[in-house]
Amino acid sequence: MRQKSIVLVTVDCLRADHVGFMGYERPTTPFLDSLAGESFVVPAAIVAGAPTYYSFPAIMASRYPLALGRDVLGLGPDEPTLASTLKQAGYATASFGAANPYISARFGYEHGFDTFRDFLENGPAPLLEEKVNAATGSGWASRLNRRLQEIRPALGPLGIVYDELYFEYCQRVTPVANSLDALRRFPAADVIVDHACTWLGSIGDSPFFLWLHLMDPHSPYYPKDAALTLMGQDPVTPYRARYLNLYWNRSDLGPRRLARHRDEVVALYDSGVRWVDVQMTRLTNTLRESRRWNNCIFAFTSDHGEEFLDHGGRYHPPSRLMEELIHVPLLLRVPGNAKQEVAKSPFSMVHLAPTLLDAAQLPVPTRFEGRSYWEQLRQGVSFEDVAISECVAGCTNPYRQENRMGPRVLSVRESRYKLVLQFDPMGEDLYDLDADPGERAPLELAAQKPVRRRLLEIAREHLRRSSEQRDLRTRVQARLRELQLEWKKPADQISPMAS
Ligand SMILES: [Zn+2]
Repeated sequence: MRQKSIVLVTVDCLRADHVGFMGYERPTTPFLDSLAGESFVVPAAIVAGAPTYYSFPAIMASRYPLALGRDVLGLGPDEPTLASTLKQAGYATASFGAANPYISARFGYEHGFDTFRDFLENGPAPLLEEKVNAATGSGWASRLNRRLQEIRPALGPLGIVYDELYFEYCQRVTPVANSLDALRRFPAADVIVDHACTWLGSIGDSPFFLWLHLMDPHSPYYPKDAALTLMGQDPVTPYRARYLNLYWNRSDLGPRRLARHRDEVVALYDSGVRWVDVQMTRLTNTLRESRRWNNCIFAFTSDHGEEFLDHGGRYHPPSRLMEELIHVPLLLRVPGNAKQEVAKSPFSMVHLAPTLLDAAQLPVPTRFEGRSYWEQLRQGVSFEDVAISECVAGCTNPYRQENRMGPRVLSVRESRYKLVLQFDPMGEDLYDLDADPGERAPLELAAQKPVRRRLLEIAREHLRRSSEQRDLRTRVQARLRELQLEWKKPADQISPMAS
């Protein structure tokens, strides 16, 4: 039997409850749902951190994101990764990523890849900076608007009506691109899959590792027209799509006002997911036609979720590690192995790389912090584990060193209970996910003391290991690599769009 190849597809911002095989009622993933019939579907895959820069160290190097220190982002040059391990085993390796700067060569992610395309040739995607603001104009309407803006707070409910009209007015006077394609900030999944298929055609019979990172559901939400049609949606004009994105991006609005357009925004996001699904059909067809599919492990997952006002927030800033951010889909198809139900216990993404290597019958590097769950999956044996997630609160622009140094947020999640710890100011919220899956209200401080104590002890042990077992050599090397790159490209030339 030839060595099994591995395809890893990570989709940015894809929350677990928006894919069909995890129970979503809208048709975002019909192809993947059919594949789920012959795959292991992990019910509680939990990322080790969110967003992208706190998630991928675990996915690619089986390491907790803050293990090298809060100031270090990305992978160390000498860290063993999924890619470097497979390359050493003789695999052809390639990565095609849809322009997310945080998993580029700058942060060490090219390590182990023969071919590494991050589509950042023209720089990272810019900020959502199309500030449509007629208030800077000098015509009479602009002057009137400026005056009305100033007195708006005093207008009460009328002020809200005025504000909505004003926002619309600003947009009407600003030209908009003539298609959703022209508004999109990232290469769509079809572009990435085209490159992947070309590469697959170039490597002959060699076992391979192919990693695709897709950004279709990432904001700003500009899906393909064809995906909207497939979702049964009416066409959305570029004007309307831009309006929705800019409205959703407004920092001056509270959740109640934002909620007016929530469903329309979610529909755009869902169509992004659908386009990924369509392209997965193409990718797997290419593998079938070249007779490689039956010897290919296929893993489909995400780096973190997305907030749609679940707890009042939008997008995916590092904050409280709620389920909509840390719970992701994970589908694992391993040819020759019948589908088994997977335990409901949380499965931390630090375990993904060792599990994939084990499924391909390859040794797991000893430096990986996770362990393989392949035997449990293969045999359908239940397991109990705890998943730890961590991030730095408020670090929304990690290009700025000082932004990285905020207080840590840590969550410890079991099947039923989840503890979220904040360190500045100190706070601990314990949730009973069985009784309160939406994490509406933490339990009283006096409730469930043994559970609280158990989870706190796990947190303490994680923090102890994180500082006492820090790999100082890797830490210094990672810092050095980053500084060398910073000298080449000043931080203020880089915008923090994607995460
Ligand atoms: Zn991301």
